[in-house]
Amino acid sequence: MNIGSLSNKATPHALRENSTTSISDIPENESIEKKRPYGIVIPMDQPSLLPETPTPFSLANEGVLTLTFIGAGSAFSKKFFQNNLLIVKGQDHLLVDCGTRTPEALSKLGLSVTHVQNYLITHSHADHIGGLEEVMLVNRYGPKKKPTIVITKAYERLLWGMSLRGGASFNEEHDEKNLGFSDFWNVIRPVAVKGADRKRCIAKIGGIEVIFFRTKHIPDSSKSWRDSSLSYGLVIDRSILYTSDTRFDPEMVVGFDGEFGLKAIFHDCQLFTGGVHSSMDELSALPVAIKRKTMLMHYQDSAETQIDRASELGFAGFVRQWEPYSFP
Ligand SMILES: [Zn+2]
Repeated sequence: MNIGSLSNKATPHALRENSTTSISDIPENESIEKKRPYGIVIPMDQPSLLPETPTPFSLANEGVLTLTFIGAGSAFSKKFFQNNLLIVKGQDHLLVDCGTRTPEALSKLGLSVTHVQNYLITHSHADHIGGLEEVMLVNRYGPKKKPTIVITKAYERLLWGMSLRGGASFNEEHDEKNLGFSDFWNVIRPVAVKGADRKRCIAKIGGIEVIFFRTKHIPDSSKSWRDSSLSYGLVIDRSILYTSDTRFDPEMVVGFDGEFGLKAIFHDCQLFTGGVHSSMDELSALPVAIKRKTMLMHYQDSAETQIDRASELGFAGFVRQWEPYSFP
């Protein structure tokens, strides 16, 4: 799918059609399953954000920047996997975040974690890092190779010391030393960009360029990115904003749009207001021209009931997992 122009593509008309039926509408001879739970309105012909069948995924293409969501759900989604993104451009690829369910999602696309060579992690919640132990152990004890991770020194310390070390370090001991981060990973170190308002750094993975910037995600009491725990959003190839998880931070979105003239924005979206994410209501305050190119991601399992509302509020729509978004 090419979303050089986002409008209408994200929520095809067929997806917006929504109807419900109550128990009294169901004919006597319908199956008992359809009548449960008794007396409660049952959604019928629910619009779907899921593809009917996954297609085998290729980690190379003819050279067009293409974004495919391995999952688009929130941390605890049971329906849409987790909000992790595969970027492919020519012979290069990069998996942004690898949650608990990501190895399973990759498997449905015909991929093992050993097929993915390049990883980037935005922060340490389990829906973004929970699959990394599998990545490390399967690569080390299967094909005996190291994947590459794009990671700042500060975040490497946090990711290894607070999350990964417990499951990965103590499987071997050599010269009275257990395994370290570099036993599992080749590292690409992003370079700090001086003089930017918001702390940022830049890295290249083959032909894919990513600018990391700090976000305001956790704790819920933080006033800005400055007093937030380490979490990153990305500007991809200076044309796509990928917020990863963030609380509502309009200055960030408007600022990057002004600086880069963004082609598209993929924004964290929660269906209620509160906690550590941006809600659809909060995002509705963004300028109309920005909302028109904003796709909503990291949503709860009830997102399909909100497709019409997202459209009415002026958003380009909800991301569909496994659907390629191309930017020539
Ligand atoms: Zn998070």
